[in-house]
Amino acid sequence: MSDETPRSFGFETRAIHAGAAPDPATGARATPIYQTSSYVFEDVDEAAALFNLQKVGFIYSRLTNPTVSVLEERIANLEGGAGATCTASGHSAQILALFPLMRPGDEFIAARKLYGGSLNQFANSFPRAFGWNCVFVDGDDPENFRRAVTPKTRAIFIESLANPGGVVSDIAAIAKVADEAGVPLIVDNTMATPYLCRPIEHGATLVVHSTTKFLTGHGTSVGGVVVDSGKFDWRRDGRFPALSEPEPGYHGLRFADTFGHLAFTIYGHAIGLRDLGPAMAPMNAFLGILGTETLALRMERHCTNAQKVAEFLSTHPAVAWVNYAGLEDSPYNALARRYLPKGAGAVFTFGVKGGYDAGVRVVESVELFSHLANIGDTRSLIIHPASTTHRQLTEEGQAAAGAGPDVVRLSIGLESVEDIIADLDRALTASQEG
Ligand SMILES: *Cc1c(COP(=O)(O)O)cnc(C)c1O
Repeated sequence: MSDETPRSFGFETRAIHAGAAPDPATGARATPIYQTSSYVFEDVDEAAALFNLQKVGFIYSRLTNPTVSVLEERIANLEGGAGATCTASGHSAQILALFPLMRPGDEFIAARKLYGGSLNQFANSFPRAFGWNCVFVDGDDPENFRRAVTPKTRAIFIESLANPGGVVSDIAAIAKVADEAGVPLIVDNTMATPYLCRPIEHGATLVVHSTTKFLTGHGTSVGGVVVDSGKFDWRRDGRFPALSEPEPGYHGLRFADTFGHLAFTIYGHAIGLRDLGPAMAPMNAFLGILGTETLALRMERHCTNAQKVAEFLSTHPAVAWVNYAGLEDSPYNALARRYLPKGAGAVFTFGVKGGYDAGVRVVESVELFSHLANIGDTRSLIIHPASTTHRQLTEEGQAAAGAGPDVVRLSIGLESVEDIIADLDRALTASQEG
């Protein structure tokens, strides 16, 4: 886990070089896809040292893989973290982030405005399967997190820029609440990416991503990552015994004592991936590496395109409202200027006049946009949540989740912005002709 790319280099330089080097065996300049499940030991002593975590190396690709390691080092570097653990999906990154912190009966506090899949995972599956109880609060007021803290609280979870968009968290204020409560702040930075926002610089302990979205960036593969800042003292009051107490699976080794600022990351591989199993495939890591190399260029264009589309929509006669933090009249504009100075991301919602039927007509009338359930592709994407992702909810439930009948969500891609706008203009006009 050495990282020889100086962190004093600029973001674009680190996005291309961090974690990677010419292949020592062949000189290959691009990172090879190490498509192997396992690695030959030099001898029994080396094998023993690897299994005892006394030597860094490769045993089996469920734990570590050379291609995946490059992506881990790169994202850790870009986020300003000590280390990272890649996972099979964003959802498994969330499990791996909480796994060392929580025991059955423990609680974590989460903002109520989150990616819909995270709401299901936290509200239903975590308590049923693991006994991890999530307390949801309105994240707009940081004091709401403080009021929800109990002796069982083990973490606070927020999204920097919340999916489906337009909502920006006051990361520094919430980090202060977490610090005073003695628990880590976990920030899902999927929608912003480290190009737009680096939560660790604002006090976050852990950062999680769905690399499926902008990081990999071309709509090709599902993946996730957990980045640890390396700054939390897991021994401070005995609340995190998995990291501070002897681990029976490794002859009584104490991760926090033995590995210091890398304890969380090594635990993530040696226990988290070993026992839960959601390893990232080497091919997906390779695509993630390619994605990070153009992240700065892509995010810049995603944001300028999104800003122009949001401005266009906010003057369109068929549009009732636009929720984009880059618009000056957005209630989150001040937070966006502080936390996302390079742009407010490329995913947002708007309301079409005419309600449910007009929303359906918009998604059925677009030609350039793809009607599907994803974000962060090079292609522009559109979805009508009330008829798809949120259709099981009542109308009141849909409205509370920001997915009322008139809501349309966009993920603005990298096509010519004139073409994106013309496609929406045509579809909006058609939506009013029902
Ligand atoms: C997509 C997404 C996830 C889940 O990630 P998967 O890779 O689909 O498992 C989590 N958080 C946010 C903000 C997302 O957009």
